[in-house]
Amino acid sequence: MSKLFKRTKILATIGPATNSAEKIEEVIMAGVNGCRLNCSHGSNEERAQQIKWIREAAEKKGRSVAILQDLQGPKIRLGMLKDNHLDVKRGDELVLESKEDFEHNGGMTVPVQYNLAEKVKVGEPISLFDGKIKATITGIESDTAIRIEILNDGFIMSKKGINLPDTDFGGDIITPKDMADIERGAEEDYDYVSLSFVQSADDILKLKQILLSLGSTAKVIAKIETKKAIESDERLEEIVKASDGIMVARGDMAVEAGAEVVPIIQRKLIAMCRAHAKLCIVATQMLSSMVDNPEPTRAEVSDVATAVVQGADVVMLSDETANGKYPVETVKEMKKVILYTQNHSRIAPISRAPEGESAVYDAISSAAARLAEKIEADVIMCQTASGATAFAMAAQRPNLPIVSVTSNPRVANQLALLYANSAFVRPYSEEFGYKLAKEQKESGYLRVEEGRKDLLAVIVSGDKNKYGTDTIRVRQI
Ligand code: PEP
Repeated sequence: MSKLFKRTKILATIGPATNSAEKIEEVIMAGVNGCRLNCSHGSNEERAQQIKWIREAAEKKGRSVAILQDLQGPKIRLGMLKDNHLDVKRGDELVLESKEDFEHNGGMTVPVQYNLAEKVKVGEPISLFDGKIKATITGIESDTAIRIEILNDGFIMSKKGINLPDTDFGGDIITPKDMADIERGAEEDYDYVSLSFVQSADDILKLKQILLSLGSTAKVIAKIETKKAIESDERLEEIVKASDGIMVARGDMAVEAGAEVVPIIQRKLIAMCRAHAKLCIVATQMLSSMVDNPEPTRAEVSDVATAVVQGADVVMLSDETANGKYPVETVKEMKKVILYTQNHSRIAPISRAPEGESAVYDAISSAAARLAEKIEADVIMCQTASGATAFAMAAQRPNLPIVSVTSNPRVANQLALLYANSAFVRPYSEEFGYKLAKEQKESGYLRVEEGRKDLLAVIVSGDKNKYGTDTIRVRQI
């Protein structure tokens, strides 16, 4: 049975290529476990409609699906350029102006969507068009404009990203646009909120506080992509600990810190997330040639397989499902690679034991995982209120499915992205894990290992009124 359930999950970005009830249903049926709605594009009204479509498709499939609101953060973009295009040459001087009513006339003063004059220093590097054009800041022109010198030939286009790897945003990374998106998002049905360009644990604590004050129960994901965030292992680990999960945002990370650092940071982050029982998403360019082609490259397949072997909870699709020609085929391909890889290799064992509070959860969940594998159980059932038991169980990366049962629909949606987890909502009772296993055996969702009559389940639970997870039971059903 474990051969059929994919343990690494798929998060798909919704965009023009998937912007309909039918397409969303198709990608969910093909294997998507979570949808990313990117606040950098589209409107809140469009996202509200997409949330409705996702919930309807999830209901049809009878499975929880997570919805992630991806906040833009200080992702700075060029404004609209005349004819959408401007050629630049090495040595050219460009002025980046952030005045409200400023319209580009085709000259070397171009609009930007953020007042850089308030943050940057002369001498700092800057890149345009998502890293394609490198430049240096040579002057502060006015209260709203800076001057830069171009270092290579090429061109820029409207709305393309600007990166400032050495600029210190002084703990001020939640922009007015983010604030408006957070406020609107708190009224919507989001399970996760991710923050772009995180520089420190404080950025995440601030976001958590804002969400709490708005009554949101969404979990928080830190997108790791700035040079500052990866400056030291200590800083990185503080961010991991402050968050509910992280995204290895490899696109901007490569622009900010150099492509060569990405594989090492990816491996480090997956290990840190497992040690602290946090969610780990590996993102960007996983199957990017499938934006235009029906088949991936060998290197892309290898990239997805590597994330699976390293033990990522989630692999993410961006342009492939947002703008690509083959969104459904891409999801199917990704699922195929995940299943083959998980069924032909073992996940690397956890490299270090967790410390502090999570040590009890870790001890119980590692014992449950070892027990389940030793007795060749068919399933690990987690009875969970907040999701913590399921997070701890997933951190062990067991070689068999985890079915989580909770009375809280938000928690079930959040667990949809967790390694090996399928989550279901049932009214709470002391034996709701046992009851669900029985129901799922009868419906055929859970199948018994060949040669056996009974379903063998390891049930992990806690007494609601006592300290966290404290019980492991073996049940024949
Ligand atoms: C990235 O940069 O890799 C990323 C995931 O962020 P975005 O797609 O928002 O640029």
